[in-house]
Amino acid sequence: MNDPSPALSPALSVVIPCHNEQDILPEFHRRLAAVMNSLATPPAMADSAGKTQPPPWEAVYVNDGSHDLTLACLNTLAERDSHIRIISLSRNFGKEIALTAGLDHARATHSIIVIDADLQDPPEVIAQLAAAWTADVDTVCARRSTRAGETITRRLTAWMFYRAMARLGSRVIIPPDTGDFRLISRRLADSLLLLRERHRFMKGLFAWVGFPSRTIMYDRAPRPDGTSSFSYRSLWTLAVEGITSFSVIPLQISTGLGFLISLLAMTYGAWIAGRTLLFGNPVAGYPSLMTVILFLSGVQLMTIGIIGEYVGRIFNETKQRPLYLTDSPTRPPETPLRQPETDSIT
Ligand code: UDP
Ligand code: MG
Repeated sequence: MNDPSPALSPALSVVIPCHNEQDILPEFHRRLAAVMNSLATPPAMADSAGKTQPPPWEAVYVNDGSHDLTLACLNTLAERDSHIRIISLSRNFGKEIALTAGLDHARATHSIIVIDADLQDPPEVIAQLAAAWTADVDTVCARRSTRAGETITRRLTAWMFYRAMARLGSRVIIPPDTGDFRLISRRLADSLLLLRERHRFMKGLFAWVGFPSRTIMYDRAPRPDGTSSFSYRSLWTLAVEGITSFSVIPLQISTGLGFLISLLAMTYGAWIAGRTLLFGNPVAGYPSLMTVILFLSGVQLMTIGIIGEYVGRIFNETKQRPLYLTDSPTRPPETPLRQPETDSIT
């Protein structure tokens, strides 16, 4: 980890989380470098003479505990290109944390671009992101107009997730069909890095921070190599993360549901009591009894489950562990060096 030094800080940083991407990285970096070298200086950075110099840039690759030769591949690339910086995490922490580690280490003074390594976010779109950037916005998001190479179920679940989030996410509006691929200002990145929660849903955090944003459209390319590391199970986890990190509405729904069912049960009970008083008790009712018991048990289990999701998150947050560990000897930025203690023994 290099210390940010204003004199050396590049104008732009590109943050790339990588997990088992050895086959794609050389091609990815070739395309990324071509785009970054061709970028004109954003207007705010142009010098007084208005000269447009290619901005100095850096690519911060975060090796997220890859099991293949990703790290070796990055080291080889870094020998040839001084723009590359490598942050290697001590194990696989997941994309959201890898991204945070990259943002922590990005030294850009002007703006930071977040992109996946798998070429699904074409690096060429960075030129469009930079072109759409103006001083009055802090984020330029890239919104997918197509999701080539993804199955119908995958598209449908993504569609449902974004719509559910829009309804449940209260005041934090997460733009639909927008991944992490975006350009953010230094100001926004600094604000984002103040949020050190363990359960990180980056798209939600980007939206929580706020600041003006703009969206451009792009075609999401199919993955040229490897497979998505997000199984349906991990997508489900991410969706639960997204919802529980940004909304307590599921808790309110369970309260409402409990209330409604109690009301129905009371009415039903009154009806049964009335019927018994009027017509006697023919010892029927086993099916209805079972139905009610099973239904109520189901609702109770579901409600306990929902509460459990939140309690689990509270548990994880209270442990206050660092978000990640790198294999470099330097401390992660979030753990400040302790002040030397004054000797109290006199
Ligand atoms: N990734 C990561 N850690 C993980 C899983 C994925 O850093 O545990 C990276 C991966 O290398 C890629 C990006 O996150 O650059 C997106 O991953 P993937 O393509 O698997 O996700 P999808 O495109 O399906 O959302
Ligand atoms: Mg992908």
